[in-house]
Amino acid sequence: MGMTQIVPSSYHQTPRLYVEEPLNGAPFAMSEHHSHYLRHVLRLQDQALVRVFHVKDGEWVGRLETIGKKGVVFHPLELLRAVPTIDRRIHLCFSPLKKDRMDFLIEKSVELGVSDLHPLLMRRSVVRDIKADRLRAQIIEASEQSERLNLAQLHDLVSLEKFMAGQVGGQQDSVFYAALERHDCASLKDVVVGEGAVTDVYFLIGPEGGFEDSEVLLLQNSSFVRAVSLGERILRAETAALFGLSHLV
Ligand code: SAM
Repeated sequence: MGMTQIVPSSYHQTPRLYVEEPLNGAPFAMSEHHSHYLRHVLRLQDQALVRVFHVKDGEWVGRLETIGKKGVVFHPLELLRAVPTIDRRIHLCFSPLKKDRMDFLIEKSVELGVSDLHPLLMRRSVVRDIKADRLRAQIIEASEQSERLNLAQLHDLVSLEKFMAGQVGGQQDSVFYAALERHDCASLKDVVVGEGAVTDVYFLIGPEGGFEDSEVLLLQNSSFVRAVSLGERILRAETAALFGLSHLV
C-alpha cells in the first residue's frame, strides 16, 4: 500500500501508544488490544497517523493500514525521538495505598518522571498487597499520555526491613532520603542541593498511619539515610510522595 511522505510538524494531537514490538523502520501488525483500541475506541480510519514508542527504539510516527474488520498494521514514517540515556534514576519507596490513592500516586509520579517504584510493606501498611498488572497498565497509560519515552520500573513488593538490608549501607553515587513526620529534621528542600554525580536518588515515605518507632529507629540507624522533613503540615502519603518528587526530579 502506498503511503504519503508528508508529515505534519506537530504531533501533539496524534494518538501515542507504548508498543513492545521492535521499531526498526519495518511495518508490523499491531496487537489485538491496540488494534481494537485504535479502530473501535478511537475510531481511526485507514491511513490515520499514530505515534508509537518503544523503550529502546524511541518514538516513531506512522500510518495505520486497516486489514479486514479487526487488524491494524503500523507503517513507520519517521523516527521522532531516540531514547535519551538516563543519567539519574529517581526511586520512590512507598507503602501500598488504597485503590484511588494508589492510582493517583502512580499516575502523578510517572508524570513527574519517577524511574523506579518500590512498594514496601511497613508495619502500619493497611493495604498489604499490590495488583502488579493493574499498576503496570497505569504506568503505561501515564507514560503514553505524558510523552515519556521510557516506563517506570515496578519492583516487587518486599518488607521495608528487607529493602533496607538490600541497600547494603547505601550505594556509591546514590542518595537516600526518608521523610520522617513529626521529627526534627532538616527540610527536604534545604537538603537537596547540588547532588553532582549522583546516579540514584531514593525517596522513602511512610504509610497512612506513619512509621512505627522500630522503623524510625531502623532508618535513623542506617548511616546512609538522610532523614528529612516536608514541612510543618502532615501530608497524606500520596501528597508527600509528589511533594518530594517535585524537589528531586
Ligand atoms: N499518621 C501520621 C501522623 O499523623 O503522624 C502521618 C503519616 S503521613 C499521612 C504518611 C507519610 O508521609 C509519613 O510517614 C511521612 O513519610 C510522610 N510525611 C507526611 N507529612 C510529612 C512531613 N511534614 N514531614 C515529613 N514526612 C511527612
